[in-house]
Amino acid sequence: MKALKERILKDGYSLPGGILKVDSFINHQMDPILMEEIGEEFIRRFSDLQIDKVMTIEASGIAPAIMVGYLLKKPVVFAKKKKPSTMKGMLVSKVFSFTKNCNYDICVSSEYLQSGDKVLFIDDFLANGNAAKGAMDLISQGGAELVGMGFIIEKSFQDGRALLDRDGVRIESLARIASLDDCQIRFAE
Ligand code: 5GP
Repeated sequence: MKALKERILKDGYSLPGGILKVDSFINHQMDPILMEEIGEEFIRRFSDLQIDKVMTIEASGIAPAIMVGYLLKKPVVFAKKKKPSTMKGMLVSKVFSFTKNCNYDICVSSEYLQSGDKVLFIDDFLANGNAAKGAMDLISQGGAELVGMGFIIEKSFQDGRALLDRDGVRIESLARIASLDDCQIRFAE
C-alpha cells in the first residue's frame, strides 16, 4: 500500500532491536484519514471472504479493526489484556510480548466468539506472531472459524509470517518490512 509505505518512510523510525516506531500516526497519535484508507485496503484484499465478525487485541488493533468493521457493517470484538471480574464465560490465552518482553493473558467473553462465526483478525503489527497465535487460540476455544488475518505492518525478518503460513492462515500485510538493520527501513517488495 503506497500511501502507507510513504508515511512509514516519512514519519516512522526504527529503534535498535528491530522495533519500528510509528507513534505519530498509528500507535499513539492516529491519522484517521490514513486509517480509513487502511480499512478500505483490507476490505479490497479480503473481498473474496465471507466475514461475520472482526477481531483484534487492545489497544493498537482497535483503530484499524473498527474501520474494517464499519465498512463491512459487522461487529468488532477486541480481546482484553486485563481480566474483568464481571466477564461471562471467559476464554483466556497466554501471549508473549515482543515489545515488553513478558507474558500476558488475553481474554474475550465466549458470548462474542461463537461457534460458526467466520472471524477476520486485524492488528497493527505482525512480528513473531505471538499475539496472532493467542488470537487463534481464543477463536478456536470459542468454536469460531478464522478466515484471515490482516496486519498494517509485517516485519518479515521475524518469524510470525512463517509460523502463520505453516498453519495455512490467509494473511494480508499492507506494508512488509524486510529489514530495520542499521536503523534503516527497507521494504520487502
Ligand atoms: P508479535 O506477537 O507478532 O511478536 O508482536 C505483535 C505485537 O507486538 C503487535 O500487536 C504490536 O503491538 C507489537 N509490536 C511488535 N513489533 C513492533 C514494532 O516494531 N513496533 C511497534 N510499535 N509494535 C510492535
